[in-house]
Amino acid sequence: MSLNKKDLSIKTLMGPGPTNLHKRVRDALSKETISHLDPEFFDVLNSISSLLRVVFQTNNKVTFAVSGTGSSGMEMTMANVVEEKDKILILKCGEFGNRMSDSASRYGANVTEMEIAWGESFDQLKVIEKIKTIKDLKAVALVHAETSTGVLQDIEIIGEYLKNTDILFIVDAVTSLAGVQLKVDEWGIDICYSGTQKCLSVPPGLSPITFSEKSLSIIKKRKNKVSSWYFDLSLLVNYWGEDRVYHHTAPVNMLFALNEGLKLCCEEGLANRFARHADNGEHFDIRLKELGLASFVNLDKYKALPMLKSVIIPDGIADLQLRKDLLSNEMIEIGGGLGPTKGKIWRIGIMGFNSEKALIDKFFNKFKLYLNQ
Ligand code: PLP
Repeated sequence: MSLNKKDLSIKTLMGPGPTNLHKRVRDALSKETISHLDPEFFDVLNSISSLLRVVFQTNNKVTFAVSGTGSSGMEMTMANVVEEKDKILILKCGEFGNRMSDSASRYGANVTEMEIAWGESFDQLKVIEKIKTIKDLKAVALVHAETSTGVLQDIEIIGEYLKNTDILFIVDAVTSLAGVQLKVDEWGIDICYSGTQKCLSVPPGLSPITFSEKSLSIIKKRKNKVSSWYFDLSLLVNYWGEDRVYHHTAPVNMLFALNEGLKLCCEEGLANRFARHADNGEHFDIRLKELGLASFVNLDKYKALPMLKSVIIPDGIADLQLRKDLLSNEMIEIGGGLGPTKGKIWRIGIMGFNSEKALIDKFFNKFKLYLNQ
C-alpha cells in the first residue's frame, strides 16, 4: 500500500478527508456506467452490504450505503429515529456532536445535551449516570472519532449498559470506521453511520450505515411517517433488500468505487489496517515532537486519533498563509481548525491509503521548511 510517484505529483490530501485514492478505486469510478436496476449491479449491492458487515463487525441485515456524504447518514438516522418530543441525549465535545444535536432538534427531538470542552472525551460512567436521570429516553448519540478535535471517545461501557435497555445507541463513525477498532454488535451499537472519504479512501458521496434489529423494531413503532421521503428507511430497504424496488437512481459509479475500497480494506484485513493506522499515528507523533510542536489533545489524559492529528499552531505562524503555501508550492493539503479552534490548530489527516510512513516523512520534510520562514 504505497503512493507511487505519479500519485504524489498530484495533490497529497492530508486534511480531515477526503484522502487520495488507490488506483483500483479510481478505475472502479471510471468503469462504464450500468443501470441501478441491472441484475449485475445487484451483485455489487450485495457485495457492498456483506463487506460493510465485515468492516462494521456486525451481522445486521440492514447494512448499506446512503446516497450522500457522511452527513446523510446522520440525517437518515435522526429522520427515522426521532418523532416529535422524543427525548434524545447527545454528547457534545466538538463540531460533529453539535451537528447531531442540531439535526435531532430539527426533527422535533427534545434534546438533552451533555457538553465538555473541545479536546476532551467523556467519562463513560458519568454518561451512564446522566442516562439514568432521563425518564423515557429514546436514544443516546455520540461521535466515536471527533474529527474537529482529534479525540477518540471510548464507548464500549456505554454500549454495554444500553444493551439491556430500550434506549438506542447511535454512533457517528465517519472518521473511525476502518481506522480504529469499532465493534458494532459486541459494543451494543444500534445505528452506526460513516463516510467514504476518510479511512476507506473512497471519494466523498456515500454514507455506510447499519441498523440493529432493536433499532428496526423501535422505528417500526413510529406513530407518524418519517418526515423526509428521501431518507425514509422503510422505502429504502425495498431497494437494498431482496425486492430491489426502484427508490432513487443509485449513484452507480460511486458504489463501484465503494465496493472496491471495501475489498481493498478486507484484503488488508481489519486488524492489519488498525495496526497500520496506530503505528503511523505514533510515527507522526514522534516526528511532531522532533519539530517542537504539540498535539492539541492532552495525551496524558485523552486518546488521540491515529488517523487525524490536531496540532497547536505555534505563535507567530500565519495559519492560512502556511496552508496556502503548502498547497500551492508542495501540493500538500492540511486542514485548519473549526469553530473555537479556528486559527489555533491544524488538522492533519493520515487516513486509509494515506496512512503511510514514507508519506508522513515526506510531509514533515516539507512542512518544517514553512515553520522556519
Ligand atoms: N461526522 C464526522 C465525525 C466528520 O468528521 C464529518 C466530516 O468530516 C461528518 C460527520 C460529516 O461528513 P460529510 O462532510 O461527509 O457530510
